[in-house]
Amino acid sequence: MSTTVNLGTNDTNKRVPRSTPQFVPELVYFEPAALEYPKGQHILKWVQAEGIEYQLTTSHNRIMNFPGDTELQQYRIAKRTLVVGVRKTLKFDQSKPSAEYAIPIGTGCIGHCHYCYLQTTLGAKPYIRVYVNTDEIWDAAKRYIEERKPELTRFEASCTSDPLSIEHITGNLSDLISRMAGEEFARLRFVTKYHHVEPLLSLTHNRRTDVRFSVNADYVIKHFEPGTSHFEERIEAAAKIAKAGYPLGFIIAPIYWYDGWEDGYDTLLKKLAAALPEEAKWDVSFELIQHRYTKTAKSVIEKRYPKSKLEMNEEERKYKWGRWGQGKYVYPDEQANQLKTFISERIYTYFPTGRILYFT
Ligand code: SF4
Repeated sequence: MSTTVNLGTNDTNKRVPRSTPQFVPELVYFEPAALEYPKGQHILKWVQAEGIEYQLTTSHNRIMNFPGDTELQQYRIAKRTLVVGVRKTLKFDQSKPSAEYAIPIGTGCIGHCHYCYLQTTLGAKPYIRVYVNTDEIWDAAKRYIEERKPELTRFEASCTSDPLSIEHITGNLSDLISRMAGEEFARLRFVTKYHHVEPLLSLTHNRRTDVRFSVNADYVIKHFEPGTSHFEERIEAAAKIAKAGYPLGFIIAPIYWYDGWEDGYDTLLKKLAAALPEEAKWDVSFELIQHRYTKTAKSVIEKRYPKSKLEMNEEERKYKWGRWGQGKYVYPDEQANQLKTFISERIYTYFPTGRILYFT
């Protein structure tokens, strides 16, 4: 196995692609135990076929230094690094209110959304980790399902990553969707900003997986979501998901106040309604989340995206106390209400039978 790190440029970075390409890491680390699993072996073969440099590491915790002269360069390289490992903690975190549990199939994300909460939660470990012990993870999920039966147990697969962005490498999402199809008392959901849905379209899902696309006004996508699929790609993918019979929903987040936001969100919803097939529209659901940040997040964002236009001015925000001590800055009530009222009205205009699950 190679022990050198090849950080040659990936020429997909040099031009604006018409279609957002699938993620190809620049460097892959394997934890040795991962290679004892068929999925670990499968990923190794893919890495070799792609000609990607790879190394063994005894634990992802030992990956301390990424190449680069500045912290920013190191961060960018870390975001293009994949670690293939075994999920040891099989106690799932809670994921209220959208689900009972977060099901761990990967951690970290290839996207560069300036506002992403993973900036803070993953801190110094922004690389992408994928887990290969899917049977063990599923066995743990089954125990949770059995414990709660006949109550439904809902699992969220995107609490710590965007699982669709790495699906071509792991197949973990397809695996979960297929297994969930056989579970009367369980549901899966995931959220994505990517469009690479092809592997999911022919799966048997029995409508037990809820697919949510994260969408936003053009301004927000353009300025704050580098590295994700374009809006049109996401919508096209949503239409395919609807045609494949999956329950479909949209998360509009973060809802962001900027000059011209009314036009931006109106156009978003109008385009969405025009692009979706009729059968997808009648029962579509929306989750609305206004922009928020913590002080810690702000300092991380300022370091990692120093030229970001993301406005985080405490004097223009309302402080909302958090359950675990650290509070968040949200919009003052008057602004939040304007955002909520306007966007809700537009949703009901373009999707008269649509449902708004919450605004927060
Ligand atoms: Fe974060 Fe989602 Fe953007 Fe990835 S795509 S960086 S998980 S907000």
